[in-house]
Amino acid sequence: MEWPSSRMAQIVKAKRYVAEPERFSWQGPNRVTLQGKHHTHTLTRDAHGDWHCTCSHTGPSHSPCSHIRAVEMLQKQNRRLSQPPSLAPFQLEATVG
Ligand SMILES: [Zn+2]
Repeated sequence: MEWPSSRMAQIVKAKRYVAEPERFSWQGPNRVTLQGKHHTHTLTRDAHGDWHCTCSHTGPSHSPCSHIRAVEMLQKQNRRLSQPPSLAPFQLEATVG
């Protein structure tokens, strides 16, 4: 089922999401919703640090979907911006209560 070209397409998609950070709504360090074109996807991170997505693209093949790739890219990017990991991008949590 997995084609190299589809993996490439997922990376391109993920980069598009990362370029529009307003699509991400963080509910904590381990939970984020991502506003897609037609659906909102909820991503959660387990104790191993692996992200899981509500879309159907994750499965036994262990190939992350574009949403998971996007979240991982965004986190790497934030780390590179030398923001303290405990602060970014989860400041919203305090206002949500
Ligand atoms: Zn997904």
